[in-house]
Amino acid sequence: MGKKYRVGILGATGTVGQRFIQLLQSHPQFEITALAASDRSAGKTFAEACAWKLAGSIPENVSDIVVEPIEPPLDCEIIFSSLPSSVARETEEAFARAGFPVISNSSCYRMDEDVPLLIPEINADHLDLIPVQQTKRGYGKGFIVTNPNCAVASFAPPLAALHRKFGVEEAIITTMQAISGAGYPGVSSMDITDNVLPYIAGEEPKVETEAQKILGELKDGSIKKADFTISAQCFRVNVIDGHTASVRVNLRETATLEDVIEAMETMDALDLHSSPDKFIEVMEEPSRPQPRLDRDRGNGMTVTVGRVFPDNVFDYRFVALSHNTVRGAAGSTILNAELLIRKGII
Ligand code: NAP
Repeated sequence: MGKKYRVGILGATGTVGQRFIQLLQSHPQFEITALAASDRSAGKTFAEACAWKLAGSIPENVSDIVVEPIEPPLDCEIIFSSLPSSVARETEEAFARAGFPVISNSSCYRMDEDVPLLIPEINADHLDLIPVQQTKRGYGKGFIVTNPNCAVASFAPPLAALHRKFGVEEAIITTMQAISGAGYPGVSSMDITDNVLPYIAGEEPKVETEAQKILGELKDGSIKKADFTISAQCFRVNVIDGHTASVRVNLRETATLEDVIEAMETMDALDLHSSPDKFIEVMEEPSRPQPRLDRDRGNGMTVTVGRVFPDNVFDYRFVALSHNTVRGAAGSTILNAELLIRKGII
């Protein structure tokens, strides 16, 4: 068996932190050796500090670990970060400067020009930004790699398929985002029950800009962003897990419906431990995808697409769905780490 890397999780007691712990149970490449969270939790065992919200009990391998403050050093070789953006900027920088690879869910560094914003199946070449970042910021061995916003993770893969083959010119995207996307305790039950909330603070700008960086071209140490426009509206809906995106898109080149579906279905998955068999699954059933039925496809790492049709106003429309705390958060971070190991960067 290969080496097991010692991992520390920042924000370990939160919604994404718990998903990390669940996904890392029996992972062949990683073992959890450090957990960190706020002053509220630091000094307590994980079992005392964490309001565990996933199915089953707190895993035994973490229940007695004493939660530490979010300061370097921690007893680990790799940092997985799921901190609120307000604290992530300073903390992730401190860990990177202390020599740790920081693989982050937070939004604060995603759009920095020297930080990879990674979906491994789409833009693994953007990891070449790491030496640029290390030199520019004087990080030494440390660095920061990010994964996209959880709603972007649902539609960026099918959009990437179309952009690669036909060029995307513009898209209108309406997201219907799950409650767990707001963390715990998140949105009040009085606000979300029997309701749809037409505002998620800070979300629309992320949905409108991240895909252009992910689909950008890396040349001479910088990314030229893809040249298309997205107009987005983001809604919080009464679903526990799974973000849905309704997409209408204009293409630069003519494509038949069969071409569009084939482009999506032939986006290759990787052969990393957390890779699903299918990166994108296109369903023909008229009432799919649905969060409850499709979010766990590929252990939460497959993006499910349906309702692919020509549109009366745009060229095509479709619906995309992914699990927001797996493909949209912890699962992607872990996949990024697996890719970094495969490429010999960690
Ligand atoms: P959450 O449930 O609210 O958890 C936040 C975590 O950060 C907890 O462990 C909390 O520790 C810790 N924390 C909060 N304030 C802190 C402080 N001042 N100093 C140190 N630690 C602090 O949030 P989440 O949903 O897991 O989200 C975490 C990050 O991932 C956010 O940046 C979010 O935008 C991003 N993200 C979330 C999702 C999702 O679907 N939820 C998807 C993609 C990305 P205590 O328990 O000690 O308070």
